[in-house]
Amino acid sequence: MLPIDNKLAAELKPRIDPHKRFRRMFPLRSGYLICNDCGAIGFEKHWYVDPVEAYRLTYQGKAQMVLCPGCTGAEHGTVQGEVIIESSNLPKDRQALIALIKQTEGECWSANSFAHIASITERDGIMVLRTTTSALATTIGTELHKAFNGNLTISPSAHHKFVRVRWSENPMPT
Ligand SMILES: [Zn+2]
Repeated sequence: MLPIDNKLAAELKPRIDPHKRFRRMFPLRSGYLICNDCGAIGFEKHWYVDPVEAYRLTYQGKAQMVLCPGCTGAEHGTVQGEVIIESSNLPKDRQALIALIKQTEGECWSANSFAHIASITERDGIMVLRTTTSALATTIGTELHKAFNGNLTISPSAHHKFVRVRWSENPMPT
């Protein structure tokens, strides 16, 4: 196991509400739900992202605050994707990589509120991200490849329940 880089994890993870565990104890009512962590809106078992509506619902006191399934998955380490990033220039490139990863997570989350980065670790020029959806892992790999070239391999498991994505700054030996 690679050690968790808490600073990086803190940069990437949505802010944690200290009361969220308590709030999860409330029985769910029908009506609107809003995620404490990421702000996704739940209505009749569907989750979607609309910051303006979330603001309005919160302001009007019309929604119950909960932890959405995507953030619950991230908290419990339920992951469907892994991105392995290999770069000998990692210390130099870290900020640019993280900016791109965060932007990609935000875009994927807007389309699907289940998409989150669950954890990030780093050692010896290898950064490992774990994601709650396989699509997020694939998209991060594709965006890294588009932005920085290098070499990308995407290996879905049988039945596509998990995907392992590797991106390396240099072509990998075959
Ligand atoms: Zn959430």
